[in-house]
Amino acid sequence: MPVGERRTLQFERMKNILSYVYDRVPFYKRKFDEAGVKPSDYKELGDIAKFPTTTKIDLRDNYPFGLFAQPLKEIVRLHASSGTTGKPVVAGYTENDIDTWAEVMARTLGCGDCTKDDVIQNAYGYGLFTGGLGVHGGGQKIGATVIPISGGNTKRQIMIMQDFGSTIITCTPSYMLNIAEVAESMGVDPKKLKLRVGLFGAEPWTNEMRENIEKRLDISAIDIYGLTEVIGPGVSSECEAKNGLHIFDDHFYPEIIDPQTMEPMPEGELGELVFTTMTKEAFPVIRYRTRDISRLNYEACPCGRTHARMERVSGRTDDMLIIRGVNVFPTQIESVLLTIEEAEPHYHINVFREGNLDVLEVQVEIGEKFFSDEIKVLESLNKKIGHEIQTVIGIGCRIKLVEPKTLARSEGKAKRVTDHRKL
Ligand SMILES: [Zn+2]
Repeated sequence: MPVGERRTLQFERMKNILSYVYDRVPFYKRKFDEAGVKPSDYKELGDIAKFPTTTKIDLRDNYPFGLFAQPLKEIVRLHASSGTTGKPVVAGYTENDIDTWAEVMARTLGCGDCTKDDVIQNAYGYGLFTGGLGVHGGGQKIGATVIPISGGNTKRQIMIMQDFGSTIITCTPSYMLNIAEVAESMGVDPKKLKLRVGLFGAEPWTNEMRENIEKRLDISAIDIYGLTEVIGPGVSSECEAKNGLHIFDDHFYPEIIDPQTMEPMPEGELGELVFTTMTKEAFPVIRYRTRDISRLNYEACPCGRTHARMERVSGRTDDMLIIRGVNVFPTQIESVLLTIEEAEPHYHINVFREGNLDVLEVQVEIGEKFFSDEIKVLESLNKKIGHEIQTVIGIGCRIKLVEPKTLARSEGKAKRVTDHRKL
């Protein structure tokens, strides 16, 4: 759709959803009234900045169904996020919402060159988590053959991949690495599988990790993005250009704000990503603050799609560690480790407080080929990794080398950090 035409569509849909939530969800009516805005104050696209934002705390305060705009009898499915603490975020879907979701997930798979000739091994978890059923609906809509294998049971994943001839895999990037490693240990060359594309998301990962996966499996690795609060997977996806993720912005209106002042950021600037769902019926969100850091790009993409693109998310503000006053993202450490030949792409970060000082410890797994009993060799490797990480994050850290295959492997979202500080 040409950009101008979509702007008109966005305006109509946005106007509609603002009145819809104002009339149906007491929370939004109260918030709008407190901010002194009415749906009729929305006269052009930029006016959305006049409306209040919504946060994860608002969702928690209205747990489980308080932000739903439809009664349960209209809601045909519930999902929930895997919240690490406290109550989960609950998302409801009407029949139309499920159709919308299948549509945006079909587009996502289309961005990864998936067609009805493909066999999709869907190794995202099924259940309350949105990954499994989200991909499932999109795959069916495209007419591809979907294998609803879910996560885990890695040896069986490999057997199915060989026997059913899976051409597309969908899972977290950390689980893909786990599968590749198990395949190698079974004497299966992952490059010889029929897989040609992987769609990876649900956790932050780096371009260095992408290169590692692409080389190891001889596939194209695509970054996909979504969150339960907005719909699940299917909010945006990379295309073959791999230069930003196309946001399906006829359904999800993106903004970038300054997380401190809440002011909209100028085009192209880095800030917090905010979404308004313009078409969802059961659980619409207005200006939902994702905590994800990104920037928007409105330039035309070589692939021909006209959507706004978001830069690959380098980290959630929730994942950011503050160590001795310095902001550190686990993905920064990952990007360094992936360039060190001796290190495997498996790592774990521990943060301690010793006396009054924060100590960052990175456990790094050494490749089998490089592991040595010689203390001198290990000490020099330790120094090298420590130095490279310090160059990127700006503070010193303690490196703890561990033997091959000793760190826990992921079967879904990898747990990269343990913060032992009592903050
Ligand atoms: Zn593109």
